[in-house]
Amino acid sequence: MNLAKFARRGYVTEPTPLEYLPNFSKALGGKVNIYIKRDDMLPGAAGGNKTRKLDFVIADALSQGADTIITCGAVQSNHCRLTLSWAVKEGLDCHLVLEERVKDSYNPAASGNNFLFQLLGVKSITVVPGGSNMMEEMGKVAEKLKADGKKPYIVPGGASNKIGALGYVNCAEETLRQLFEKGIRIDHMVVPSGSAGTHAGIIAGMFGNNAGIPVTGIGVNRPKPVQEAAVHKLAQETLDFIGAGVTLPVEKVVAYDDYVGPGYSLPTDSMVEAVKMLARTEAILLDPVYSGKAMAGLIDLVRKGHFADGSNVLFLHTGGSPALYAYLDTFRKGE
Ligand SMILES: *Cc1c(COP(=O)(O)O)cnc(C)c1O
Repeated sequence: MNLAKFARRGYVTEPTPLEYLPNFSKALGGKVNIYIKRDDMLPGAAGGNKTRKLDFVIADALSQGADTIITCGAVQSNHCRLTLSWAVKEGLDCHLVLEERVKDSYNPAASGNNFLFQLLGVKSITVVPGGSNMMEEMGKVAEKLKADGKKPYIVPGGASNKIGALGYVNCAEETLRQLFEKGIRIDHMVVPSGSAGTHAGIIAGMFGNNAGIPVTGIGVNRPKPVQEAAVHKLAQETLDFIGAGVTLPVEKVVAYDDYVGPGYSLPTDSMVEAVKMLARTEAILLDPVYSGKAMAGLIDLVRKGHFADGSNVLFLHTGGSPALYAYLDTFRKGE
């Protein structure tokens, strides 16, 4: 698909590595071969998936003459860290609105991404209760900044709109080129599914290119039907925005909710197992909120025999490891 017609900033300078995980595959029983796409190694402070989306979204902000970026996320948001990081590089001010999805979870002295917000020089942080209308809350911040003569641009949560999702259409196409160059057949792809832009972009890219690689999303927050509807809607919007001229069948979108546990960002035993397993077999750091739960999903699907023996499964590592440092007790428990 022709993505060259869309403005972008060029944050993604080269393909992220696509690697085979021999030790991890063996630890899982050796019947399924696990590959990983290292989007945790994307540029932007401490890496991660939001860089691909911001490549297009910040280009849109600049084309509208913005001098200030406002965005939102949870209290340990990787998206907020990366939006701030690219704002710093572009010489733009950045203001964050943080949602306490878990009551009283904001701690200005916390480690992880929260520490990085300060280190990267955030202009302001506004904390709002869980369930707030985040667009409205960001709108309030924007009004104040406009009154001060600023030109703010609002990046939606996770940069998950049709502009941001282009970044993951690009990732799907990059992956297909790598598989071709390396001569690897992939039978299935597993991706984390949060604010939906990553999952939607990958599906749009795979389906729009007729790749024949089914994509399974692992939800980290919303119930399965709600998440699937959100992903389908955004994937179709993205395909229409590109002008692909195709209709995405609803059954192409799968987002399991079995690995969320008690709620968004709350630890589960299977997440802890997944994070430790990847660290101790391949020395790859996952994160507690997204890639750890998504990998817990992949592990469970392999153990349940969901993938045929001998199949090759590609996991998308979306980053997030700075959040590990805000979960020390979780990982030290029982050690
Ligand atoms: C935001 C995020 C995700 C989820 O991506 P969405 O596009 O929001 O669905 C996954 N992993 C990490 C580390 C993230 O920061």
